[in-house]
Amino acid sequence: MDYRVESSETLRNKCAACYRQFNKIEHLVEHMRTSYHSAHEPTCGICKKHCRSFESLREHLIGPLPKQECRNIFSTRGCKFCLAILDSPYALRVHQDRCQLSGVNAGLLGRFANLGIRDNTENGSTRGTQVVALACKMVGGGSDSSLDLCAKVCLIDEYENIIFQSYVKPLLPVTNYRYETTGIRPEYLRDAMPLRQVQRKIQDFLCNGEPMWKIRPRGGKARILVGHGLDHDLDSLQVEYPQVMIRDTAKYPPLMKTSKLSNSLKYDIQTGIQDPYEDCVATMKLYMRMRSQVHKIEAYPLASDPQNRNNFASWRQNELERMSPEQMLEASRSDYYCWCLDSRDM
Ligand SMILES: [Zn+2]
Ligand SMILES: [Zn+2]
Ligand SMILES: [Zn+2]
Ligand SMILES: [Zn+2]
Repeated sequence: MDYRVESSETLRNKCAACYRQFNKIEHLVEHMRTSYHSAHEPTCGICKKHCRSFESLREHLIGPLPKQECRNIFSTRGCKFCLAILDSPYALRVHQDRCQLSGVNAGLLGRFANLGIRDNTENGSTRGTQVVALACKMVGGGSDSSLDLCAKVCLIDEYENIIFQSYVKPLLPVTNYRYETTGIRPEYLRDAMPLRQVQRKIQDFLCNGEPMWKIRPRGGKARILVGHGLDHDLDSLQVEYPQVMIRDTAKYPPLMKTSKLSNSLKYDIQTGIQDPYEDCVATMKLYMRMRSQVHKIEAYPLASDPQNRNNFASWRQNELERMSPEQMLEASRSDYYCWCLDSRDM
């Protein structure tokens, strides 16, 4: 067997994004059809390999089982928070000072935030706010206390200012205050704002004068809502909000865990006794970081955009098999909405 032919053949069948190699071109085509590689995937700043998530990029750069060359460069000038590669160790130090996820501020402000009700929903200064983060603290209801009832809620703007914060009086009796993790005592809820009133306030603030049925992803007045596991929070507040306006860090593919080999994930939202304000700050920082990623600008970035139907998915097999791996990647589009797109027309 001619070794040279063999190796150039495998090179031809190597995915231009994740570098997986295939014996046959039709297998690479099949892989491209189902992997939705795009410029929006987390990418190694050194070898340009695309990863499904930041967690797998972290494994690639730090380990276990890192790629040696990338690991070596990363260890001298890679940011351990956002995984970017800087030009020099000096540039890295300057960058990392600003890049840390939860600074001292959050904890400090969080403690001040603890002092009772804050309500700036009617305040003129919040009118321009387009992105808000929400978090709840749950106590237990029902005979076995397994029912989650929202007992405290916090809403912040993109500069981490509190828009609204209050204890909440649930509709059902509380059977367990879960004090060790919530820090909530019965007397805090006795005269707290009733759930219905909280629900209306938050609903109105999110919609910002826009009728629910009219809310569309772009160009409207409704606000983008950021959070972690928002379905659960919104459920417990009985607030309805359209999916197109929701940015959930628990459901965003680049932030999801993809393998069991994971070591500590800096992107993870901490659990334990934390104030909802701190949860809001952590998710907002994460959202802002994701939104500020610099990616290629495409007219139709999503595989589901109607204009892409006759782009990749419906290309005929023999047409695709004639393309180079790079051309295939060029034609491929993302299967999730990348948050960098939020920064485009805001
Ligand atoms: Zn691939
Ligand atoms: Zn992007
Ligand atoms: Zn690499
Ligand atoms: Zn960084």
